[in-house]
Parts: sequence; C-alpha cells; structure tokens
Amino acid sequence: MTMTERPRRALRLGVSFAALLWTGSALAAPAPEAVPLPPQANQTLAHDIFRDIVEVRSVHDAGTKGVADILVKYLKANGFTDQEISYVPEAKFPSQVNVVVRLKGKGEGKPVMWICHMDVVDAKADDWTVPPFKFTEKDGYYYGRGTSDMKDEDAAAAASLIRLKQEGFVPDRDIIVAFTADEEVGQDQDGPAYLLKNAPKLVDAGLVIDPDGGSGEIENGKRLDFTVETSQKTYVTYTMTVTNKGGHSSEPRPDNAIYELAHALVRLSKYQFPFRTNATTRLYFKAVAARQSGQTRADMLTLAASPKVNLKAATRLAEDPAMNAVLHSTCVATMLNAGVQENALPSRAVATIQCRIMPDETVDGTKAALEKVIADPAIKVAELGFLTRGPASPPDPQVLSSVTKVVDAMWPGVPVVPVMAAGASDALFTRDAGIPSYGVGGGWNDIHDIRMHGRDERMKIGTYYQTVEFTYRLMKELGDAPEVN
Ligand SMILES: [Zn+2]
Repeated sequence: MTMTERPRRALRLGVSFAALLWTGSALAAPAPEAVPLPPQANQTLAHDIFRDIVEVRSVHDAGTKGVADILVKYLKANGFTDQEISYVPEAKFPSQVNVVVRLKGKGEGKPVMWICHMDVVDAKADDWTVPPFKFTEKDGYYYGRGTSDMKDEDAAAAASLIRLKQEGFVPDRDIIVAFTADEEVGQDQDGPAYLLKNAPKLVDAGLVIDPDGGSGEIENGKRLDFTVETSQKTYVTYTMTVTNKGGHSSEPRPDNAIYELAHALVRLSKYQFPFRTNATTRLYFKAVAARQSGQTRADMLTLAASPKVNLKAATRLAEDPAMNAVLHSTCVATMLNAGVQENALPSRAVATIQCRIMPDETVDGTKAALEKVIADPAIKVAELGFLTRGPASPPDPQVLSSVTKVVDAMWPGVPVVPVMAAGASDALFTRDAGIPSYGVGGGWNDIHDIRMHGRDERMKIGTYYQTVEFTYRLMKELGDAPEVN
C-alpha cells in the first residue's frame, strides 16, 4: 500500500461533503439542450482524444508515456508547434512522461496553468461488466477506467486548448496545460512535483487550476452545487510502537506491550483536536446554511460569522462525521499489529494512526499533540510518511467570480461553494511551491454513484461535452482575467 493511493478517494469524499448536507429542495436542472456545448467539430475531437487515452492502461507500473504520446499527436495535428509543447520524461522513470503545452499570451501577468494527471488506478477486468481499458459507449454513458478520474478532464483540456488555438485566441497571459504523471501513487514519480523541481520555467504559473478537485454535484438528477476546492487537509500517518522484552505466556507480567498500547489508544479515542474554521470553511458554512433549517442552519451561520469558534455550535455540527472532518484535525487508529505467537508475551505492539490535519497546522505539532494525549513516553510515535503539505489558497474573490461567471452562463442558479477537502491532490505541490491553486473541475458527479477508482467507472455522455465547453470558457475567462497575479 502506498501513501498517496488512498487520499484520492478521500478527496472525492471530501468534495462531496457539501452535498451530504443538502437536505433542502434542490434547484431544477435546466433541460440538457439548454446547456451550451462546443461546436460539433470540437466535440468530435474531444470524443476521439477521450476514447484514445482511455484505452491506454496508464497505471503506475506502466507509466504515462502512452497517453502523453497520444496527446502530443493530437496537439501537433491541430496546430501546436514543437516550441509550444514540452515532452518531459522523468529522468529516473522514463516511462513516466509529462507534457507541458503553452498557448502564448500577451505576457500581461504570470501564466494560468491547468494540471491534469494522465495516470489511473488499475482495474480488474473480472470485476467489471465491460472491459476497463476499452472505451465503451452504453446506456448514455462512456465506460472505461479514467472516464471520471480524470481522462475526461485531460481530453477536455486538450480539446479546449486546441479550440482556442484554432480560433486564434490570444489571452492576456499564457495558458499552460501540464499533463502529468503518476498522481495516484505519486511520491518520487509525481509529475507536478517533478516539473516544479526539474523544469520550473515550464510551470512558472501565477495561478493553478486542478480539475481533479472540485466539481458539480448532482443528486437524484438535480444539480446541487458547484464546488471549488481552495484548501486541503494534510494527510499524514504515524505509528505508535511499544516494545517489551516479552516472555512465556505461562508467566504473565503486568508490563505487556498489548495492554500498554491499548491504554494509549483508549486515551486517543477520547481526544478531540480543537475546533477550527478558516476562510474557506466559513464561506462554505455560509453557502450551505442557506439550504438548511432550524438549529443546523443557525449553527452554520454562527460558525460562518466569526473566526472565533462557538463551541456549542461546532459540537452539534460535528455529530455528522462529514462536518466533523472539516471542523478540526482528526487522527484515528486504522491498523493494529502485535505479538508473534499465541504462547509468547508480545515483544512488540504497533498501531497505525491516520491523521488529516488542518492546513495551517503542522505535522510536527500533531505528533507532539499525539504524544501528549497518549501520555506514555515508552510509546514511540513516528511519522510513517506524509505528503507535501500546501498552505490553503485564499478563497480569492477574482477566481471565484470567474468560475461563478462561467457556471452562471452554463448552469444558471447553481451556487458556487468553496470547500476544504479532507484528502490530497496534486494541488498540494503547487500550493507548496507558493502558487495559489484551486480545484475546479467542469464535470458533474452523481453523489450517490461515485465510481472513481471503482468498477464500471463511467461518464454521462451529455455531461462530458458540457465539461469540454466549461473548460474552454474557463480558460478564456482566466486567460484574460485582469486581477490574476
Ligand atoms: Zn484524479
């Protein structure tokens, strides 16, 4: 198991928490034909790119070269020159290829950059009802691994950039799309991390859009909201280890590694990190309160109103696990390993503690808090590994208003809601590099039928072409937005 494999699912769950609260009546969806779509030729192009890249099994072991080559082929066939396309295999992992393409602007301000991972998690053909690495059109959906995470967005970004190029659009600032390697497993081979370190000039952006986080949310066929991810909790895992000289189980002693660890875990189970809010979660509470009633609505408005947390309101809201996750850092025991055989006293007991830390809190500070809570210096707390932590990006009014403008034009009446995700994505790396980064996908997910990383992953056909149109419009909007850095 790797560290970065798991947060992906968490990210999507994090994004969906907005909708979990949506108990009020939702806005009626406009008739599908009312939503603007790209011109037919661009739809055909978007379809073909999508089909071709879904059929490449770009999992961690295989690398992203296959997808990269296809994208380069389409970009070149549609007007992009060698100078505009950078093909960047990773030095130590040459099958992990990144492609950075740039639509030149007038040089007014730093570029805006999309980051789009080309890799997917693997899929077992036996678990699926259709072949996972074949692009299958069925029942109004496109099926295949990556159709919702995130080859749909990859193809949309490629097709939109090509459309802008073909239309002769010259943005105020450069528009960059970085198609990147190995987000799902990441670590040494993660594309954005590699580019920032080894090819910083290619990714010298003032603003990053990561379509992997944030998206429209649908429930029972109704559009609920459109989330924009402005911050993420830091993902970090610790181990707690007790060692003991052990002995024969026929002669038990009071000092027992399992008991000692168990006592520490009980103390941990009763501990809660202090409730906190930040600029993003206060905006979020304000937005969702509008659809709530009674005490929940009042509590949300209370929390939205002031950085000073009202404990009673937070405590009530935190009864909902999804709310609890956004109200403070959390650490929870997830694995336990102790003893060697049934008739030996345990010489070792280890618990795995998984933490999601608020963006402005530290990994070291959390470790210190854990040590204090378990109150047993004989138990060693160690960091098992953590992802780069990126600071929260301020919920920038200009970025939010650009997104809102495009959302309003395409799906009138759908509220744009800033969220803090409980998981991690590649935006962590760009935030860590000091680039304000926002999770803005153009896709729509049915919150009760999330198939990312799961079997029979699919994308509604009509939704896909809306995603393409949204991407095109947002590129145009942000390419010319005057206040962007
Ligand atoms: Zn993804």
